Amino acid sequence: MHFHEKDDFPYLQFDSLTIPQLQHAIFTRQGGISPAPFDSLNLSVSVADSKDNVYANRRRAYGLFGRDTETAVHAHLVHGNQVSVVTRADYGTWPLGDAIVTNEPGCALTMNFADCGSVFLYDPINHAIGLGHAGWKGAICNLPGAMVRAMTAAYGSRPADLLAALGPCIGVCCYEVGEPVISEVHATFAEPETLLRNVGGERPHFDLAEANRRNLQNAGVAKIEMPNLCTACRTDLFFSHRAEKGKTGRFGSMFILV
Ligand SMILES: [Zn+2]
Repeated sequence: MHFHEKDDFPYLQFDSLTIPQLQHAIFTRQGGISPAPFDSLNLSVSVADSKDNVYANRRRAYGLFGRDTETAVHAHLVHGNQVSVVTRADYGTWPLGDAIVTNEPGCALTMNFADCGSVFLYDPINHAIGLGHAGWKGAICNLPGAMVRAMTAAYGSRPADLLAALGPCIGVCCYEVGEPVISEVHATFAEPETLLRNVGGERPHFDLAEANRRNLQNAGVAKIEMPNLCTACRTDLFFSHRAEKGKTGRFGSMFILV
């Protein structure tokens, strides 16, 4: 993963997805106009920021790719494993669910985050993409695996062909958990002790990125880029629901098939 700056506006890109067939970005919290605690590039109207600020921020961020709120497909996130197959006909809509996939060139996918992990999938053979959102609930209900199956069903994608990338999320360094996370991880994953790590405190810390990586691996995906950036450690770069005790914004991502 590397920083890209265009017009002094920083955003992150995965090395493996920086290819002519794709446009993509994980925006930071920098470069917008929202005041604290949404400072400054908050892209979500689901927090108590003003809609005018959010729409201005989207024009700035999505505008890098010639898009705006009405020329992208969003997602109404519910921490589940439902995947929506979308096209440009879905522009300006918010399908219910935590993943959207498309094989239509030019169709822009976008999604917002504050500690949960983003999942990017690209099928270079059938030319299709997917963008997903998985926090601990998404990892437990295997949202990454559901995305792989949805792309197989819709586009004939073979898991072994997929390029996957997992965006910045809350790291094992900062993600202390209790019940029901502990029980759910034990019920869901093999070797749960490797995902619930003892880092010295009374309670274990959950390794969300590794859980999502295993979901992809179990679905047959072999090529997976992971940036190892913690949103709670890096509140200079990202919004963190945990580190900022819920009073924060949402940073965005965008994914487009050229
Ligand atoms: Zn951390």
